[in-house]
Amino acid sequence: MTTTNLLNFDLQGLTAYCESLGEKRFRATQLYRWIHQRGASDFDQMTDLAKSLREKLKGQAQIVGLPVITQHISQDGTIKWLFDVGDGNAVESVFIPEDDRGTLCVSSQAGCAVGCRFCSTGHQGFSRNLTTGEILAQLWFAEHFLRKHLHTEERVITNVVMMGMGEPLQNYSALVPALRTMLDDHAYGLSRRRVTVSTSGVVPMMDRLSQDCAVALAVSLHAPNDPLRENLVPLNKKYPLDELMQACIRYLEFAPRDFITFEYCMLDGVNDQPEHAQQLIELIRKHGKGKPWCKLNLIPFNPFPASGLLRSSNAAVAAFAKVLSDAGIVTTVRKTRGDDIDAACGQLAGDVKDRTRAAERMAKQRTIPLTPIS
Ligand code: SF4
Repeated sequence: MTTTNLLNFDLQGLTAYCESLGEKRFRATQLYRWIHQRGASDFDQMTDLAKSLREKLKGQAQIVGLPVITQHISQDGTIKWLFDVGDGNAVESVFIPEDDRGTLCVSSQAGCAVGCRFCSTGHQGFSRNLTTGEILAQLWFAEHFLRKHLHTEERVITNVVMMGMGEPLQNYSALVPALRTMLDDHAYGLSRRRVTVSTSGVVPMMDRLSQDCAVALAVSLHAPNDPLRENLVPLNKKYPLDELMQACIRYLEFAPRDFITFEYCMLDGVNDQPEHAQQLIELIRKHGKGKPWCKLNLIPFNPFPASGLLRSSNAAVAAFAKVLSDAGIVTTVRKTRGDDIDAACGQLAGDVKDRTRAAERMAKQRTIPLTPIS
């Protein structure tokens, strides 16, 4: 008989599951709290559940996380875990401690089909979507591991960013129950403002997310015009910038914050010139109708050989940020964290096999000259 992994359920799913066992609805809430708030994986720990229910669960359900392949701790306190998701696939999660928060960067897919040029996950190709349980297992493990090691009963992870491996909106049906569990007061109880989905711009799914589970939104922008963005983020061919910007404005009506964050990876000589900054200002102004509606996060690129790209100089990043700030656009430069353990943004590559010959495809793409700015 196959056993059901209870990490795959949000509270609604767990309630339906308990009802299917002939149990009352409130049993699901008890179970959910044991799993997510207490980190329990053994039904015998759940002392307020009737023994008969525990026996029933032991026969057909389990609570299983992901095996940890490696754990690396950076000098700055950043921790990176590599989790085994079977068949030679692995995904990474990164915990980033700061004075006022603890952020976990979570993966949604093994590999990624979007194939952004500056992203090492994109270069390895797509293996498969993670299940809800595999997405949640990263948070479940990290939260309870950290509590144990910090000797605290208090919540350690205060923020989750879906910015690890994969395009979360291309794994929508697994993502939404995972997000609901992150937000649920009987589980992790995170505020919608502290859970961020980062997308490369899957426009129809941005609209669905705004209705199903409107958490904070970050958009991987990386270029101010369509030709350049098509080269860096191939998905732009399907959903060009104007469509993407309009989807962002629509999302704002339902978003927990009054701004969208745009991520912009600074690539030397590619997208970091003053003309690019000027185009970005025009793009943002055109869609915002004069009102402030977004923040820009400039990300120093973490070079890796297969990309053929280089990190912009600090001076170029500072000059770019100044042009945008002078135009009234809130602009920050992301601090790189966990560089010494390859946990910085865009460095998550895992040990995943290249199943789609992405490396070859990317190598061909690199021979296409970058389109000059229009
Ligand atoms: S940046 Fe995100 S969407 Fe693009 S290839 Fe990497 S993981 Fe996929």
